[in-house]
Amino acid sequence: MTVIDPSVDHALRLIVTGSSTEETCATDLAAGPWNFDTVPGYGPGSSMGDVIPTGSPRQGELPAVYREASEEELHDRIRAAKETLGDRAVILGHFYQREEVVQHADYVGDSFQLAGFARQHPEAEAIVFCGVHFMAETADLLSGADQAVILPNLAAGCSMADMASIDQVEECWEQLAEVFGPLDQPDGDGLVPVIPVTYMNSSAAIKGFVGRHGGIVCTSSNARTVLEWAFARGRRVLFFPDQHLGRNTAKAMGVPLTQMPMWNPRASLGGSTADELEQSRVILWHGFCSVHRRFTVAQIDQARAAHPGVRVIVHPECPMEVVDAADEAGSTDYIRKAIDAAPTPATFAIGTEINLVRRLAAQYPQHEIFCLDPVVCPCSTMYRIHPGYLAWVLEELVAGRTPNRITVSADVADPARVALERMLAARPASSPAGAGTVG
Ligand code: SF4
Repeated sequence: MTVIDPSVDHALRLIVTGSSTEETCATDLAAGPWNFDTVPGYGPGSSMGDVIPTGSPRQGELPAVYREASEEELHDRIRAAKETLGDRAVILGHFYQREEVVQHADYVGDSFQLAGFARQHPEAEAIVFCGVHFMAETADLLSGADQAVILPNLAAGCSMADMASIDQVEECWEQLAEVFGPLDQPDGDGLVPVIPVTYMNSSAAIKGFVGRHGGIVCTSSNARTVLEWAFARGRRVLFFPDQHLGRNTAKAMGVPLTQMPMWNPRASLGGSTADELEQSRVILWHGFCSVHRRFTVAQIDQARAAHPGVRVIVHPECPMEVVDAADEAGSTDYIRKAIDAAPTPATFAIGTEINLVRRLAAQYPQHEIFCLDPVVCPCSTMYRIHPGYLAWVLEELVAGRTPNRITVSADVADPARVALERMLAARPASSPAGAGTVG
């Protein structure tokens, strides 16, 4: 594994700790969607402030035949390889993936839905995951042992997932034990001091940590159900890596902001006092999604001024003020279903990743659907899956080789599966439907 320039890691630290206010989006990506990544960041793209932390996997250089091929040639090669492979390979494309790649996918969905599709194809030897690293890990956790999950570009990480490393979370846990005492000991009411909850957008190592410590995984669709599950078992929740999903969900459940301190992994006790931690209900990790934190209340005001009657729906990874100002907030699946269910032509302003918004606009031409953010801001990490990489991995499979396989070791996979199974078994307090209904 190549060690990344320490300055890159330093830049990430500045952004995570709030010491840097560097702009995390630029319009460059739209200008050159066919360029290959050549810089030591997350690649060409809009989340320019996002950087790959030290030790992350890096992709070796793609052979020249793919780098120099025309767009049409790459598409032809992908189609031909796919046809040759037949049932031996399934191609999965995330909602946020670029259109040039998604057009070749057998399934399109969010990370957990895609892992489910992989599960439905035990005959496939290879699952080619056109998403980011943590998604490929989740697919490996949920797919058969003899199936190879392949990430076409190893450098397609997720900046949010990288904001909570396993070392930082272990350190946090030790510090919390100093404040609360043994963290696995229930009190007189049968509640332990802290239940760890991780968003699906986290590494397998973090999911394994959560599974080992009585915790659970959540998605943006079932975060409330999962927090209810956690509050039935613990005095408080440690929620990572996305502070916004944690805050928005807990606030909607009536948890006051004063009982949601932020955990800054660079500060002692996360930057809070022991008393503040004692009073807390949800300890929020200082992580965020660079794409979703771009949305603002001013954008919503502008949309309403320009489109009277517009329905504003945003993703819960957006900041709290944006979620509060919107008409609705929900996961990618919620957004899609809300548009699908609209009985008459309507105008929708959507606060989520641009590729998904554009796809929805094309799928539902009877509605006017636009992105709240006037600057094109795709997920630049997802964007690293250039069609050239897809052509390369498929042709490698045809040749009998298995490139870029993502494997989660058993010591991590076993507890990570426990945390995922707890999520699937969790039931909302108010409804009999399962938390396993994710989007
Ligand atoms: S949209 Fe945000 S959370 Fe999702 S993969 Fe991209 S950086 Fe990660």
